Amino acid sequence: MPSEKPNIRNLSLVELTEALVQGGFPKFRASQVFDWLWKQHAANFSSMKNIGAPLIAYLESHYHIDRLALDTVQKSSDKTIKCGFNTIDSQVIEGVLIPTSKRMTACISSQAGCSLSCAFCATGKLKLMKNLSAGELVDQVVVLNELATTNYGIPLSNIVLMGMGEPLLNYKNVISALEILTDPNRFNISPRRITLSTAGISKMIMKLGDEKVRFNLALSLHAADDKKRSEVMEINDSNNLASLREALIYFHERTGSRITFEYILFHAFNDSIEDAANLAIFARCVPCKINIIEYNSIGDSRFTKATEAQTEAFREFLERRNLIVNVRRSRGKDIDAACGQLANKINQATKSL
Ligand code: SF4
Repeated sequence: MPSEKPNIRNLSLVELTEALVQGGFPKFRASQVFDWLWKQHAANFSSMKNIGAPLIAYLESHYHIDRLALDTVQKSSDKTIKCGFNTIDSQVIEGVLIPTSKRMTACISSQAGCSLSCAFCATGKLKLMKNLSAGELVDQVVVLNELATTNYGIPLSNIVLMGMGEPLLNYKNVISALEILTDPNRFNISPRRITLSTAGISKMIMKLGDEKVRFNLALSLHAADDKKRSEVMEINDSNNLASLREALIYFHERTGSRITFEYILFHAFNDSIEDAANLAIFARCVPCKINIIEYNSIGDSRFTKATEAQTEAFREFLERRNLIVNVRRSRGKDIDAACGQLANKINQATKSL
């Protein structure tokens, strides 16, 4: 059951210090509590051994700690592991662990459901239920890291915010989580190993460029002409390619980072040489690399994946123009590891109970 008391993990160290000083406790107690919350992942106040009974009682009467509960774990034949999590207010979200020979990547969600309705995406068919808290974002990393270690003997090397939801519509909590994950005194994950993927909200991309915290930025492009992009991504109506170009240039100027363009290749929709030519022109606006992604069907007959031959022709066209191109095969097909599909299944299953 959700608690009426505020969630202590929504407080910054400064805010927690102020609150504890007001409650009559010395300043240093805030750092101790913060360590328990973010280094030891304490699930309750009584496990905070060195802070003393009066402070434990104070915290218990004023705050709660939100925690994600691991609900389901599915392992694919290609070693991808997909987790369904329950939030304290009974929302279902998902995170995916993707092992490759070089990386151990956690793909995490930023929202339960999504308010954008990208036509090819299973999450887009769910309503937005809530923004995940910074703690819920970090918990996904903690659990996926544990699964990486117990299943494959190695910790996470990379984190991508590419699961359910649009991270830039949960801006404050996403930035807090990134600050926690990259803080040398807490998770100490290199910003170069974190990628935030957005459907493209120009104003917020510019804002990201001004943040202190650093990470890589990926834009889900999927079409490089406005008419086609609006057909599959409604967000393009209010954030067209010209505005995105301007925002990406600003972000690059501020951060020096190379942008990743994600491009799902759909058969007979965006896979022609003319589409590749449009993409090559758009991509030149900033130093970039292009990830061509194999489509993982969500059972919508409007979309099928591009053929091998078309995928190769598309890649070759871009490479001949000196663009850096990777073709990403879809992972975890046997466990429905495409964006949002596990949550859709769990939601459908619970609906029929
Ligand atoms: S692709 Fe991302 S932004 Fe679009 S509906 Fe799916 S989760 Fe939301």
